[in-house]
Amino acid sequence: MKKDVTIIGAGLVGSLLSIYLAKRGHRVSIFERRPDMRKEKIAAGRSINLALSDRGLLALDKVGLADEIKSISIPMHGRHIHNMDGSTAFQPYGKEGQFINSVSRGTLNGKLMDLAEQHGVQIHFNHKCSSIDWKTNTISFELPGSQFAAHHSQLIFGSDGAFSAARMQHQLQHDKFNYSQYYIDCGYKELTIPPTAAGEFAMEVNALHIWPRKDYMLIALPNLDKTFTCTLFFPFEGPASFSNLTTKEKVQDFFSTTFPDAIALMPEYVNEFFNNPTSSLVTVKCFPWVREDQFALIGDAAHAIVPFFGQGMNCGFEDCRVLDELIDKYDDDWATILQQYQFLRKPDGDAIADLAINNFTEMRDRTADPKFLLQKKIEARLHDKYPGQWIPAYSQVTFSPQIRYSEALRRGQQQEAIMQEVMNTPGIEENWQSEELEKMILGKLTS
Ligand SMILES: Cc1cc2nc3c(=O)[nH]c(=O)nc-3n(C[C@H](O)[C@H](O)[C@H](O)COP(=O)(O)OP(=O)(O)OC[C@H]3O[C@@H](n4cnc5c(N)ncnc54)[C@H](O)[C@@H]3O)c2cc1C
Repeated sequence: MKKDVTIIGAGLVGSLLSIYLAKRGHRVSIFERRPDMRKEKIAAGRSINLALSDRGLLALDKVGLADEIKSISIPMHGRHIHNMDGSTAFQPYGKEGQFINSVSRGTLNGKLMDLAEQHGVQIHFNHKCSSIDWKTNTISFELPGSQFAAHHSQLIFGSDGAFSAARMQHQLQHDKFNYSQYYIDCGYKELTIPPTAAGEFAMEVNALHIWPRKDYMLIALPNLDKTFTCTLFFPFEGPASFSNLTTKEKVQDFFSTTFPDAIALMPEYVNEFFNNPTSSLVTVKCFPWVREDQFALIGDAAHAIVPFFGQGMNCGFEDCRVLDELIDKYDDDWATILQQYQFLRKPDGDAIADLAINNFTEMRDRTADPKFLLQKKIEARLHDKYPGQWIPAYSQVTFSPQIRYSEALRRGQQQEAIMQEVMNTPGIEENWQSEELEKMILGKLTS
């Protein structure tokens, strides 16, 4: 039976979800708080570009968008590390031929909205969800100019992001609703590396650049207009922190000692530092995500995570794909579809949230450590020789959509414990390619 479906939020996940549902013949409306982003300039503050990887691509492929999006993305084959002493190093992601994709948030979201409309989805902009009456499944919206509107729906999805109003309404009136939000003590600010005077990329284009500095880091992802969007992940408080960099001179002093090679490419960094917003990073976990056959949370509204694994959007896209597979399985039985959806996705949402927090330490601190680099070399060699047995945690999350996040977390922890033992073996720097070591590792893996 075809349903009237309402989606709250026309972000990346809500727009993709609408396509999946409209393709099945459901009558889908989306209500979005903001004006149509395809006609407006995106305000600074959210990430301008995103790393799209295999989970996201698989979900886009199911609606026929993967190739088009790949054609407007820039492949990033590995991490390009900029050390404090000015030296650089390249750390490939996964195996040869594997890469992640830098894509513009605005372009991707716009393409998803275009395709949604082509499938008959109605997108209502400037509609801010303010309350939901669960008895009648009626959503109330605030419109510009103190106007209000109400909309009844058989099935509602809350895809309105990390600070979801739909979740708040669900939470307020749902018995035994569990909720936690956790802010890390670092925030972020975006800066820009423009093209060179000759109109070229100022650094290696096919890489994700990282300046790891232990308690903080700068990263840069390439854009099609030959700029790089840099993001400074930086403590809010402390000696080196946002709260301390209060004057032009302090900002210049700090950047010229900490990121000298980067500022040589960023003529506007001081102005941008003061003009661009400082944003916080939150992890949200909650449960339940669904209400009978009438309501479900999806994307960041269900599981907001920190961006250090580049998986928030990928995870939200995977929510849509899994939901679609459940519709295939359970047909019109929406109570079962939604129950199964939360049963499958909640452990995976929790797992990627934890993996993402752990990856912050890896990116800002361990990528500059020679012992860590050796560990990665050993793991890459094992993966090459025994691809079915040893898959590095990063590859499980990024290049293996057939492995659930919860499984990647479990296997990753097991492998990390083995590697910690291996790295403490005397003489590991010389013996890392020995047969004996390999046998020992594989033995531990299967024991
Ligand atoms: C700095 C940073 C870098 C990131 N990098 C990556 C990356 O590299 N790779 C990756 O996969 N993920 C990344 N993410 C995560 C990614 O941005 C999110 O996971 C993704 O945007 C989630 O999509 P969503 O549609 O669930 O939520 P959102 O994109 O937040 O969309 C929610 C939509 O709902 C609308 N809305 C909100 N409230 C209401 C309301 N009351 N009524 C109606 N509409 C409403 C909003 O206007 C918005 O359009 C990053 C996040 C950050 C902060």
